[in-house]
Amino acid sequence: MRRLLDATSKRIVAYIESLAEQPASDFAGADQVAASARQDWPGEPVPFDDLLDQLFDELTPKSMHHPGPGFLGFIPGGGLFHSAVANLIASVINRYVTVWVAAPALVQLEMNVIRWFCRIVGYPSTAGGFLASGGSMANFSALVAARQELLPENFLKGTLYVCEHTHHSVHKAALLAGFPAACLRTVPADDSFRMRPEALEAQIEEDRRRGWQPFFVVGNGGSTNTGAVDPLSEMAEIAARHGLWFHVDAAYGGFFALTERGRHRLVGMELADSITLDPHKGLFVPYGTGCLLVKDLNKLRRAHSVGADYMPPIQDHPERIDFSEISPELSRSFRGLGVWLPIKMVGIEPFCAALDEKLDLAQWITERLRAIDGLDIVAEPQLSILAFRLRRDAFAGAPGFDRLDNTTPEDAAHDALNQRLLDVINGKQRVFLTGTRLGGRFAIRICVLGVRTHRERMELCLEDIEEAVAEIVRGALSQEAPRQEEPRQEAPRREVRHDG
Ligand SMILES: *Cc1c(COP(=O)(O)O)cnc(C)c1O
Repeated sequence: MRRLLDATSKRIVAYIESLAEQPASDFAGADQVAASARQDWPGEPVPFDDLLDQLFDELTPKSMHHPGPGFLGFIPGGGLFHSAVANLIASVINRYVTVWVAAPALVQLEMNVIRWFCRIVGYPSTAGGFLASGGSMANFSALVAARQELLPENFLKGTLYVCEHTHHSVHKAALLAGFPAACLRTVPADDSFRMRPEALEAQIEEDRRRGWQPFFVVGNGGSTNTGAVDPLSEMAEIAARHGLWFHVDAAYGGFFALTERGRHRLVGMELADSITLDPHKGLFVPYGTGCLLVKDLNKLRRAHSVGADYMPPIQDHPERIDFSEISPELSRSFRGLGVWLPIKMVGIEPFCAALDEKLDLAQWITERLRAIDGLDIVAEPQLSILAFRLRRDAFAGAPGFDRLDNTTPEDAAHDALNQRLLDVINGKQRVFLTGTRLGGRFAIRICVLGVRTHRERMELCLEDIEEAVAEIVRGALSQEAPRQEEPRQEAPRREVRHDG
């Protein structure tokens, strides 16, 4: 045991300490490395040190580097080390926490985590919930609970309401829960990518008139696409007026309620019937921990409770819980420890400060990007996500850009240049950004949520964007294809301060 632990701790400490020097992504030869790892059968035993070498030196580097400071794509998580240690302990003690009688005091720790989360979002002490594998499963359970509560057994007339920026896991939840596409309504968003409440209400009324059974409205507590926060209070009011279940998907943004600004922006979240949170995003713990909170725990129980003769008796006590009775899973890992341990060790304050820092960094880089000639901010940061693109007039005079009205094929050429811009930025390997489409047009997103992302990395990000913009514009105007940077194998160009 000591030998395994010692060898492992050497590798993981070295790994974490070198995070800032590692490239933000490295895909050169990644598929070939994957192919070389293919095996039909495990074969002869391999010494542990060789396996560690393979994992750390060969396989892991060929990837997007989520825990590093330069990861600004999709929604970064991070992976708090304290939490990784908690997960090791959880695996070693391997206790069962989905039924109370199996380990009451450990179930209590997970209940504490749920209590803390209820406080964070402004829920009453009668609320509750469970830790899921992620936001997708939390959204799924919320939808199933609402269906069970509000629709008849034949629920195919039920309609649910999302906006175009709602996370696709809600669409998947609808699919899994048995709703055909005809049951899904996409309500239009305003110029700030927020659902238009009057359009929501009009759609609900229209559906009622046509014999549908509206039952479920999803608001974004920070959308994945642009970080937009829907008008939650107004949506809650509309849902209540029409007797619908109001769910807030705050998987990305919910924990910003730990900050003054975040609380202000997320006002109305506390009015929801249920809320999805993702501790593996906003609390920086490693992947595998999401959360569903519901205001009325009985509704969750009615949708998930199924007994069996070989199971221990279920708890009928307000201070105790069998998580298996309110969630889809039975056997699962002790997720609560990975949240409980770090918060107990350092307190909640460092989490608030870290989230505040991410809001500041998103604001900081937005102002710097706005100052770059030819660059448009297409999504202002409502929390810590923003999006930008090069304006088409930055290319005026370049081939394919002679007409500046909004018609194709100039649109396609314009999108392709912005895609190229993204590739050039990522090719420098100091940051990793991702793209999306807003209003049908390509845009580059920045999401600041990495626990190790600080000001010095955002300065490198700005530097790389400035250089890439100059290169792309120059390339387009001189009619040459912009030089595609070869992805570097070695560490990023400039020395960066260690911020692991
Ligand atoms: C990430 C995300 C999800 C999905 O959560 P997973 O943890 O990836 O399953 C759902 N909704 C939003 C808003 C998200 O950002």
